[in-house]
Amino acid sequence: MIKIWLSLAHMGGAEQRFVQSAFDSNWVAPLGPNVDGFEHDLEDWLSKKSAQPETHVVALSAGTAAVHLALIMLGVGPGDEVICQSFTFAASANPIRYQGATPVFVDSEEDSWNMDPVLLKEAIEDRIRKTGKKPKAIIPVYLYGYPGRIYEILKIAESYGIPVVEDSAEAMGSLYDGKHCGTFGKYGVMSFNGNKMITTSGGGALICHSKEEADRIKFYATQAREKFPYYQHEVIGYNYRLSNVSAGIGRGQMMVVDEHIAHHRRLHYIYKELLKDVPGITVMEPKADAPLESNFWLTSILIDPKGYGHTYQELSAYLADKEVETRPLWKPMHLQPVYADAPSYVNGVSESKFKLGLCIPSGPMVSEREVEMIVSYIKSF
Ligand SMILES: *Cc1c(COP(=O)(O)O)cnc(C)c1O
Repeated sequence: MIKIWLSLAHMGGAEQRFVQSAFDSNWVAPLGPNVDGFEHDLEDWLSKKSAQPETHVVALSAGTAAVHLALIMLGVGPGDEVICQSFTFAASANPIRYQGATPVFVDSEEDSWNMDPVLLKEAIEDRIRKTGKKPKAIIPVYLYGYPGRIYEILKIAESYGIPVVEDSAEAMGSLYDGKHCGTFGKYGVMSFNGNKMITTSGGGALICHSKEEADRIKFYATQAREKFPYYQHEVIGYNYRLSNVSAGIGRGQMMVVDEHIAHHRRLHYIYKELLKDVPGITVMEPKADAPLESNFWLTSILIDPKGYGHTYQELSAYLADKEVETRPLWKPMHLQPVYADAPSYVNGVSESKFKLGLCIPSGPMVSEREVEMIVSYIKSF
């Protein structure tokens, strides 16, 4: 039985009250006052530090649904290509295939572990050369919440007229140049899965920047019902809205989101300080070309077996023995069997991190004392 988990949900206390209100009003259905309230809370929270003047949020059943709807909004279809960061969770890329399009994977740069702008430009040029047309969208990711080089990516994207969909599922509360990750591009993706910064037990959201777009996203997410007295459908729709019960949990979580973020960050800096002199262990600390503030959703460490004396697999097994859960870094998409035939532009960065890295426990259910304990295990091993 593992006692210290990688990333557990934590309830602030007010969640049950909002869920109860859904029951009391018998609004146990998709949509309803909690959904509106949750969207409003998210819009308020993001708008204080948004990269764009207007910010709208549509609550959805999953972050994956948010990626999918962003691609639908951009008209991605069969024969199209979409550029996606390779170093990520499969949910960033799978919706490209749902649309019958082809993912083109781009590797990461050393400083942030996120999309390398130099490779991105090369990839766009090469795709135009090979296929005669531009990729339809670019999906950069904020791995483990680390802000990447979004200004450079936007500049390149703009120069080719390609829209950017930021996968900020792991980056709720991460700031780049003082602004929320996920608010820079055409669309931004949020996730409220059980292990993310806040949870609705399962859910997500799509960030956009006009009311018209928010309305159109809601339309697609509720089976694309046209404005007729009967059910009239002119395009294909989806059942992707968040339920009023789940949104009640989300409203409660919004009352503790800033605390959650502060706790993740605090634990990261304790890990960093306590592990700084351990030979062969490096705590990942993102750097970029602008001031950044990572939410440190997860803290990750690189284990160099030459310096440390053990591989990451050995350390992981040792910690599991001590009832501490760890997890290898995301395996890059260009190395996944399911994407073996997808074009990819690689520089070895994500693969080299994947071979050395481990995520270690974080979140409000992990105490500062437990961090000290985990570090003492790492040292004594
Ligand atoms: C969690 C996650 C998603 C998907 O979110 P779900 O809510 O689980 O569907 C997408 N991208 C990344 C990078 C994630 O970590």
